[in-house]
Amino acid sequence: MPLHIEKGDITTYPTDAIVNAANRTLLGGGGVDGAIHRAAGPELLEECKTLGGCETGEAKITKGYRLPAKYVIHTPGPIWYGGTRGEAERLCASYYNSLRLAEEHDCASVAFPSISTGVYHFPLDLAAPIALETILSFLETAKCVRDVTMVCFDDKTLAAYEKALQALQGK
Ligand code: ADP
Repeated sequence: MPLHIEKGDITTYPTDAIVNAANRTLLGGGGVDGAIHRAAGPELLEECKTLGGCETGEAKITKGYRLPAKYVIHTPGPIWYGGTRGEAERLCASYYNSLRLAEEHDCASVAFPSISTGVYHFPLDLAAPIALETILSFLETAKCVRDVTMVCFDDKTLAAYEKALQALQGK
């Protein structure tokens, strides 16, 4: 199975790329964004300053600096406003555009955090199937990316992604 769901800290993953649930400034923040910048060192912020921010659902790539991963793919996921402002489509776009960039940079392995389900408050039970369906459909035609890990930081997140995967496999 090329898709894995694990509990862990994404800053420790030696994959070709890790994805950062960033904000639109790309200048760092709390949550996983803060953890990635702390682990990568100040050179990451210096490169991010040259990128001019990023729209919601788009993605930009940098080097990984002191991280074990070669690249960081930064994507601002949508803030949850109740579901009527295209949040689902934008979350799907964050995963898809991150995978597209990984493919363009010849990455075989990619690790994702649970985008938007922290301070952006996207409901976990809605986010998990969107994430997994987008990843699985991308893997069907990917040329380079062949191993994707969803890195869940806590038990609640892990349970939501495991449940969503079971539901998809039961289809
Ligand atoms: P967002 O603003 O997109 O909601 P957050 O960083 O607030 O982003 O949360 C996204 C998810 O990342 C949450 O499930 C949070 O628990 C998780 N997270 C926080 N730190 C890490 C880490 N070091 N590794 C993996 N996931 C993390």
